[in-house]
Amino acid sequence: MTDSTADLVILGGGSGGYACALRAAQLGLSVIMVEKDKLGGTCLHRGCIPTKALLHAAEVADSARDGQTFGVKTALEGIDMNGVNSYKDSVVSKMYKGLQGLVKSRGISYVEGSGRFVGERTVEVDGQRYTGSAVVLATGSYARTLPGLEIGGQVVTSDQAVNLDHVPERVVVLGGGVIGVEFASVWRSFGAEVTVVEALPRLVPAEDDFLSTQLERAFRRRGITFKTGVKFTGAQQSDSQVTVSLESGEQIEADLLLVAVGRGPNTADAGFEQAGVTMDRGFVPTDERLRTNLDGVYAVGDIVPGLQLAHRGFAQGIFTAEEIAGYDPTPIDETGIPRVTYCEPEVASVGLTEAEAKEQHPDVETLTYDLSGNGKSQILQTRGAVKVVRAEDGPVLGIHMIGTRVGELVGEAQLIFNWEAYADDVAELVHAHPTQTEALGEAHLALAGKPLHTHG
Ligand SMILES: Cc1cc2nc3c(=O)[nH]c(=O)nc-3n(C[C@H](O)[C@H](O)[C@H](O)COP(=O)(O)OP(=O)(O)OC[C@H]3O[C@@H](n4cnc5c(N)ncnc54)[C@H](O)[C@@H]3O)c2cc1C
Repeated sequence: MTDSTADLVILGGGSGGYACALRAAQLGLSVIMVEKDKLGGTCLHRGCIPTKALLHAAEVADSARDGQTFGVKTALEGIDMNGVNSYKDSVVSKMYKGLQGLVKSRGISYVEGSGRFVGERTVEVDGQRYTGSAVVLATGSYARTLPGLEIGGQVVTSDQAVNLDHVPERVVVLGGGVIGVEFASVWRSFGAEVTVVEALPRLVPAEDDFLSTQLERAFRRRGITFKTGVKFTGAQQSDSQVTVSLESGEQIEADLLLVAVGRGPNTADAGFEQAGVTMDRGFVPTDERLRTNLDGVYAVGDIVPGLQLAHRGFAQGIFTAEEIAGYDPTPIDETGIPRVTYCEPEVASVGLTEAEAKEQHPDVETLTYDLSGNGKSQILQTRGAVKVVRAEDGPVLGIHMIGTRVGELVGEAQLIFNWEAYADDVAELVHAHPTQTEALGEAHLALAGKPLHTHG
């Protein structure tokens, strides 16, 4: 076999890697992309898409259960996990086929196999060497566990949870971050008894603490139990059960334990360190142009310290392709990346939390608009709020939202934040009635000194 060369060699075909490949090919670069599993990576096969399909099925279950609220005679007869999984899998496989077609149509050379970065801008797969003028490392992440907590049997990570063939009766979710609360939400809607255990003092601890308080209230109303500020000490499995022990001495019996304690970088077996890539606890640090310490070697996606989100991976992939093609793109502002947690109710935010804003700005002002004043939210029968953080007499610094479907509002919120809008600018924009976007409009009207549907 002869060695192959290209303008760009990409190791990993997940969100970061394939976005880079597609954009680079569009810009006329020759691209080789190496993938050991399935094109599309975590997001398409084990992450964003299948979990959001489960969450949609959960919403349908809630609608069936709550039909009476709207005067519609419905009843939830039960959950057929075969049916749920075949719906979910059909969404994934349709998108997978589409993505495979895209990669093919852009003339990207797709190499199946486990690759190893061996330095000198070269990736080796089964003895074959692929050398690029540039190399992009995009090997993604894996579900972490805790020391002494082995995955297997009734102890699962999101990788198994996403394909479960039954609804557990009682489940403990270890970790109250994004993945933990999303699964807690799905299983509760499907009828399970759910307990979330989080070592930090609040659920979704990376969010503004207002959102944590609101989500905790909503989970209480939904009958989701949570224990925050308490450490897990161990789990014992029997044939069909798992007993979870906490530092407080409490023990919880369950049929399933989901370990959702974060994701580690997938970099141990890919040769990075041996090839001289500077590493930080397994992650690959880069500068703002996503360059590693090695000339011509870039890194994108979950292996780069920061938010582990698919759209960050897409943006970094596109950025890197443009950088390599000489387009001098603008670096990505990590604070401007929108964040959505798709549990019920949804949590969505962009920019700085109030606490972060106060660290950076002397005078910070906040306004919280309650969704009880928003017609569409009342129609949906959701509670929640929009909280806007701004510098006094300055631009909006952060937007934090909670409520059914508020994830869809993050598109406008991110424009407001990223275009450094002032409340007065946003207040001039007319929002369609009745939509939930009006809540954003109303919050800015109030900040601009002309509240409309705001009490007090
Ligand atoms: C349950 C769950 C839900 C999520 N939900 C969301 C969500 O709603 N929204 C969101 O934005 N993000 C979500 N994420 C996060 C999102 O999936 C990741 O941020 C995203 O997939 C990261 O992209 P990546 O390209 O860095 O890595 P990955 O998608 O993990 O892709 C890396 C690829 O590299 C391949 N690879 C690794 N090593 C090698 C090697 N040596 N040789 C060849 N190939 C290799 C892997 O097989 C994989 O396909 C979720 C994640 C999980 C687990």
